[in-house]
Amino acid sequence: MAWDFETDPEYQQLLDWADRFVRDEVEPLDLVLGNPYDKSDGRAMAIARPLQQQVRDHGLWACHLGPELGGPGFGQVKLALLNEILGRSRWAPTIFGCQAPDSGNAEILAHYGTEEQKAKYLQPLLNGEISSCYSMTEPHAGADPTLFTTSAVRDGDEWVINGHKWFSSNARYSEFLIVMAVTNPDISAYQGMSMFIVPADTPGVNIIRNVGVGTEPEEEGSHAYIHYDNVRVPADHVLGGEGQAFVIAQTRLGGGRIHHAMRTIAQVRQAFDMMCERALARQTRTGPLASLQMTQERIADSWIEIEQFRLLVLRTAWLIDKHKDYKAVRKDISAIKALMPKVMYDIVQRSMHLHGSLGMSNEMPFSSWMVTAEMLALADGPTETHKVVVARQVLKEYQPHDGLFPRGHLPTRAEAARAKYAELLEHAAAEL
Ligand SMILES: Cc1cc2nc3c(=O)[nH]c(=O)nc-3n(C[C@H](O)[C@H](O)[C@H](O)COP(=O)(O)OP(=O)(O)OC[C@H]3O[C@@H](n4cnc5c(N)ncnc54)[C@H](O)[C@@H]3O)c2cc1C
Repeated sequence: MAWDFETDPEYQQLLDWADRFVRDEVEPLDLVLGNPYDKSDGRAMAIARPLQQQVRDHGLWACHLGPELGGPGFGQVKLALLNEILGRSRWAPTIFGCQAPDSGNAEILAHYGTEEQKAKYLQPLLNGEISSCYSMTEPHAGADPTLFTTSAVRDGDEWVINGHKWFSSNARYSEFLIVMAVTNPDISAYQGMSMFIVPADTPGVNIIRNVGVGTEPEEEGSHAYIHYDNVRVPADHVLGGEGQAFVIAQTRLGGGRIHHAMRTIAQVRQAFDMMCERALARQTRTGPLASLQMTQERIADSWIEIEQFRLLVLRTAWLIDKHKDYKAVRKDISAIKALMPKVMYDIVQRSMHLHGSLGMSNEMPFSSWMVTAEMLALADGPTETHKVVVARQVLKEYQPHDGLFPRGHLPTRAEAARAKYAELLEHAAAEL
């Protein structure tokens, strides 16, 4: 019997350590340090490095990776249980060496990179020494990559990249960017686009501006609008071969989406915990908010939604471990991707509302979490496109029903049932 909802006692001990460590040592960093991707921030690095060493000492560094890349190779279920803790803190993924988008970039470099590319770009990324950027979305087209126009043209031993990219996260802190570009406009985009590794200091990589989210001050944004202006990279800086961009993008995004979902469980639990504490503490003239039925409904709905979401995430993680192939679990990954922003939005909104004016003030984290919910609805593809994937995959499991009436038509079914048991029914009637 393989169904089991329990954690190995040894791993539970590690999770308990991670829980305490994140609460006591890492969560406070969110309130005093800047951007975790800024490796040039000496003060932040001086605090972060010893904490990262403690994570290594506990065997929890880069848990998304297998032993060949310096991780423990726990698989997705164990990673999910850890990410349920790390998602509480902005700094925690960096302290544990599994922060997006570096984790996804490391995954594709490991999978498709040459030995030289791995030595130069992957190893320092895995060591947490540098940050990286994934530069795919364009200002005129995001959800549909077949509309991208950034091009790369071969010129002798080099590729020359031209075009604009939008919302390239952390480009300002990155040592290199992975850029998707059209290399053959005459064939289908699915074969005519390639990925390039572009060192950030290459002439022509021009960040027009760093766009922020929500109410972030202009200068603090970390999503770059980039003009690649005659950017020349050596021919060997193609990743995974010419025409492989779509295949690589799918490898990368499959893992990225479920890892976001795992961390989202932690975020919604935070909002939920705050909702329950507030409901018990805040008094009305008839008693605490918790005694009011509409508050109780909010709490019950939220608890049920979190548990449903968590089970779907864990089951999807289990399926990935079982099939070892993101494509085989596409429907499930898209399902949690589509559900994630709704769960986050609904629970944060309820918790914010129960906190009244304090809840929507800038003294509480709810408004930034509302922006996070929208970020989850867009980054790695909008909800609509994921729902389409779910529906298409589900419909593959069905056939149209022949006949004038549908399969569930009761008179037709009753007629068939009467025909099946006609003899027995007649016999039983005769004996009465
Ligand atoms: C916080 C954050 C970080 C990001 N980081 C990166 C990054 O590092 N690198 C990178 O390359 N990109 C990044 N992105 C961009 C992200 O991939 C895009 O936002 C996403 O692909 C959607 O593209 P778009 O924003 O241009 O929206 P559009 O493509 O303009 O879509 C807008 C809306 O139109 C609707 N829509 C679009 N297409 C369809 C469709 N086929 N069916 C139904 N409805 C549709 C949906 O409602 C959708 O939300 C990031 C985005 C966010 C929010």
